[in-house]
Amino acid sequence: MRGRDEVQVRDGTCRHPGCSRAASRSDIDHGLDWAFGGRTDHNNLAHLCPAGHALKHEAGWKVSQATDGTGTLTWTTPTGHTYVTEPETPIGTAISAELRSTATRANEARSEE
Ligand SMILES: [Zn+2]
Repeated sequence: MRGRDEVQVRDGTCRHPGCSRAASRSDIDHGLDWAFGGRTDHNNLAHLCPAGHALKHEAGWKVSQATDGTGTLTWTTPTGHTYVTEPETPIGTAISAELRSTATRANEARSEE
């Protein structure tokens, strides 16, 4: 599972603070700006409803996404307050668990040689 579906499962809801509109009824936002240079992997995607988009584009809120793959968003208001929103189902944890088990298997295979 990759791409939009994966991000929809990860987010569960719109990702602006305090919003619980279903991700399936929100737009996917590519503009998690700055650091990511327009990348379209899941680290640069999040669901936002129209109100969430308006906060970001019109009300001057800034949003950045954690680079660790967990999908954690940090929102900064024009007055400098920050709000952190967590995805419903962090992808990063699932991916890291998968990588860890692969690494463990590789280590086990080496130790049997
Ligand atoms: Zn919203």
